[in-house]
Amino acid sequence: MGVVKLRGIVIAESQTGESSKRILILAKGIGRVMLSARGAKNTKSKLLSGTQLFSYCDFVAFEGKGFYSLNQADLIESFYGIRMDMDKLAEAVYLAELVEKTCPEGMEQDETARLLLYALTVLEKTELPPRLVSRIFEVKYLQLSGLLSDGGCMVCANAQEPLFFNETDGEFLCREHCHGGETPLLGAVQRAISFIAQNEGKRIFAFSLSVEALAQMDSVLRRYLEIHMGVSLKSREFSRQL
Ligand SMILES: [Zn+2]
Repeated sequence: MGVVKLRGIVIAESQTGESSKRILILAKGIGRVMLSARGAKNTKSKLLSGTQLFSYCDFVAFEGKGFYSLNQADLIESFYGIRMDMDKLAEAVYLAELVEKTCPEGMEQDETARLLLYALTVLEKTELPPRLVSRIFEVKYLQLSGLLSDGGCMVCANAQEPLFFNETDGEFLCREHCHGGETPLLGAVQRAISFIAQNEGKRIFAFSLSVEALAQMDSVLRRYLEIHMGVSLKSREFSRQL
């Protein structure tokens, strides 16, 4: 108990009472931490900007019995520019929700936090299509979660093109190990996935895809997330409906 300092990014917020809120952050070295922020919704509150979704801050909190009460939030990055563009905002909201729904409690999540910061930076500062930013994030996040290998057939690791995707089982397979109902991956999609899996840091966001390839990557990953992560989020489809 006492005062703790946490560096982290806000991945979810919820209202508690008229002027207060609760925020969920991914904190460096710790992972998920829930902070209650009294009065944070008051326009004059010093906690107002640091408790917004995506805010990356140095937080100072009081640790009580089973709770953290936020005292101070020094903003490092607000990613405010993302809010100026509906497509970017929709993808950022989706990524935060994906992490909130799927990242485990009680363990450090530094690589996930770093990946999220890269994705938000790319969304804010570049013109890379927002939907592609999300697909790149998904591949790396699945890999960090131990749910995706760095490419190749899931039976024999053969990585020759083309690989095939089995919709029913969510498997990437070589021609030899197909057992019916597979779709061949476009070369660009196969290369994109292995590029992301084999590279680190900001570099994974340094490529583009045709509309056709992005559409296939989108549907393959939607199914892959459903099967291997058990998620199918409405926010993932939101930007497509705009
Ligand atoms: Zn194989």
